[in-house]
Amino acid sequence: MMEPIDRRSLLSAGVAGLCAATLGLGASPRRDVGKGKPVVVASANGLQTVAKAMDLILVGADPLDAAIEGVAIVEADPNDQSVGYGGMPNEDGVVELDAAVMHGPTANGGAVAALQNIMHPAAVARLVMQRTDHCLLVGEGALRFAQMHGFPEVNLLTEASRKIWLHWKETLSDQDDRFPPPDDQLDPVVQQFFGIRGTGTIHCSALDTHGNLGCVTTTSGLYFKIPGRVGDSPILGAGLYLDNEVGSAGSTGRGEANLLNCSSLRIVEALRAGKAPQDAALEACRQIARTNLNPKLQDDQGRPNFDVTFYCVRKDGNFGGASLWSGARMAVHDGESARLVDCAALYDRKINES
Ligand code: ASP
Repeated sequence: MMEPIDRRSLLSAGVAGLCAATLGLGASPRRDVGKGKPVVVASANGLQTVAKAMDLILVGADPLDAAIEGVAIVEADPNDQSVGYGGMPNEDGVVELDAAVMHGPTANGGAVAALQNIMHPAAVARLVMQRTDHCLLVGEGALRFAQMHGFPEVNLLTEASRKIWLHWKETLSDQDDRFPPPDDQLDPVVQQFFGIRGTGTIHCSALDTHGNLGCVTTTSGLYFKIPGRVGDSPILGAGLYLDNEVGSAGSTGRGEANLLNCSSLRIVEALRAGKAPQDAALEACRQIARTNLNPKLQDDQGRPNFDVTFYCVRKDGNFGGASLWSGARMAVHDGESARLVDCAALYDRKINES
């Protein structure tokens, strides 16, 4: 088994350099910069992502390549426990990553799911798109494909994520033979995680100066998921979708709701029908609420007891986001600056809480 590594040893071992080198595999040559206004949007954990992607777009990078480089910052960040290195593991303590990409100019896409040991699954997804005539590789096959193309293997489980997972496992039952430490002796990383536990993932959609689109969604998926569980992120049409003539959309949050509703495809089709990005995203939220019939997934008023957030950019540069519950934000760079903006919401969390 591979030894866990911390960020310092990762860097000194040169693995980070190797990972960075493989990030460029499949990237297109730079081209001239056009006259259109570029826009990059991402989930709220993507402020650095939109800044990086915009920098690249402004020197002629392909919009998908720019988005992949942007999310790679988060994939390599051990402190984002919802994506890539440091992501939360499955119930067996193994990190399994899902990612997908779509490329507007070639109307193509690729994805990997349940991929272990590879820090940059989005870059592998781009190679699936380019070097096979398939759209999705999973598990062992996806790993072998990544190895074949020279992606280095890394133990993605950081010490912090391992401690959090162990605490989850030790506290699952008070009738087995495991003894978790008393609360006041808990490691601070464990205390903090269970205090603010939420969902993560990163989506990024980019519109370049030629009006071309690219998008990516990359995640470690639901925390402590059943091994082999695949969410919406690597499923084209669910966790992301684009049409180069219309716009691009993607999502974070409870993936099953997007799988059941093909939400990202719906948003792009709503744009095609003339809706504004925020309205199209709100429409996808309404669809989820309408079809969420399982009482276990409802609050006492029949509303979804989970959250999903959508991020959308239209071909003309208009952008917007929406979530089921208020409070979500999205990262945006419109060529001027990177900032967080509020998403619209179907339900007001404060009214629910009062
Ligand atoms: N959508 C991701 C999944 O279901 C999780 C998330 O965004 O938090 O795998």
